Amino acid sequence: MAKLTVRDLNVNGKRVLLRVDYNVPLEEQGGQMVITDATRIVETLPTLRLLIQQGGRLVLAAHLGRPKGKREPSMSLRPVAARLAELLGCNVNFADDCIGEAVEKMAAALPPGGVILLENTRYYNEEEANDPAFSENLARLADIYVNDAFGAAHRAHASTEGVARVVTKRGGQCAAGLLMERELKFLGDELDNPARPFVVILGGAKVSDKIKVIDRLLEKADSILIGGAMAYTFKLAQGFKIGQSLVEKDKTDVALAALAKAKERNVQFLLPTDNTVVTPVKTDKLNKKGRPVIEFTNPRNLAENNIPDNEEGVDIGPATAAKFAEVLRGAKTILWNGPMGIFEDKRFATGTNAVAQAVVEATQQNGAKSIIGGGDSVKALNQAKLGDKVTFMSTGGGASLEFLEGRELPGVAALNNK
Ligand code: AMP
Repeated sequence: MAKLTVRDLNVNGKRVLLRVDYNVPLEEQGGQMVITDATRIVETLPTLRLLIQQGGRLVLAAHLGRPKGKREPSMSLRPVAARLAELLGCNVNFADDCIGEAVEKMAAALPPGGVILLENTRYYNEEEANDPAFSENLARLADIYVNDAFGAAHRAHASTEGVARVVTKRGGQCAAGLLMERELKFLGDELDNPARPFVVILGGAKVSDKIKVIDRLLEKADSILIGGAMAYTFKLAQGFKIGQSLVEKDKTDVALAALAKAKERNVQFLLPTDNTVVTPVKTDKLNKKGRPVIEFTNPRNLAENNIPDNEEGVDIGPATAAKFAEVLRGAKTILWNGPMGIFEDKRFATGTNAVAQAVVEATQQNGAKSIIGGGDSVKALNQAKLGDKVTFMSTGGGASLEFLEGRELPGVAALNNK
């Protein structure tokens, strides 16, 4: 069922409580917390501008980090208010709290088009506990509730779920912001009836994180291409040697079930046939967790399925990358989640970059719709400076995966239907 969106509202003169995802990376520099990547703030600007233009009085709520119910100064949203003001080109008032009389007064005094950013909702344990009284207190700031925080929509917290219930109960409207609307369109509607061939690329560390997505997509996709460490659980299940590669030995049955389902449904299911491998060597250095740092020595391409006992697979090999690129070239819809190797290390980003390039080519030359399902694949595309050459990049990590599993997200479910 389609959700009400900000386009359907008349917000003129009304207080709009807008939940945004401002969980931005911060770094301490000279005693101050500095935002190192403002993408999440930038992503909310269209919704903010629309609501401001229409004379809404905006009260923004967000969380930052995990302060666990304490006023942790390093997790204050104050620097975000300053950056938002710069980006919006208008004044943004910062409220030192997210509930209470003083904040209510600030909200009451807001002129049409005015903006307040509330302090971190997670300074209260009641936020994550979805505490009804806390939700009521948040709702005292709102005539209308808008949720634009897709990245937090898989959590049933007070500011993402509870408050929407309160506002709805007293007859107020609860709608999706423009960013949320786009996420639901691309990760939802576009994939419900995809133009074919529909090719899915999945990678990353663990099969267990993505098996539900694989299972659901086996019912929709024409081809599924698997890379990353996740592939080694499949390879082990097929009886190949995987050496020291990262693997989930207890998930081989799950892998076999997916392979059987692919066969039964006639879905092309491709695994790597060659790999970039290294010899991992323990060093005397210790990492932050006190464990020995492993150095990856002797990187080489291994043009066969079995990986020797002392070596580890860290990327898909060139033949696999070429095969994946060939399949992608013919695609009309592409969904990609998870890197093909340890892409953070440039030496092992080749496979991920080849896939990124193929996705971009299919988009630009074949008119394919390319949807990047959040997390590390977005990082990899941005790292390769290709982020603006795909159709859509999700802002959600966990939320994207849960949504792709076909689950209803609590923060979405709580919004009004059209
Ligand atoms: P995920 O969050 O599940 O998408 O996993 C992303 C992580 O998987 C990245 O940090 C990659 O470095 C890691 N990864 C991908 N391929 C491998 C591999 N072959 N061995 C170890 N880690 C990998």
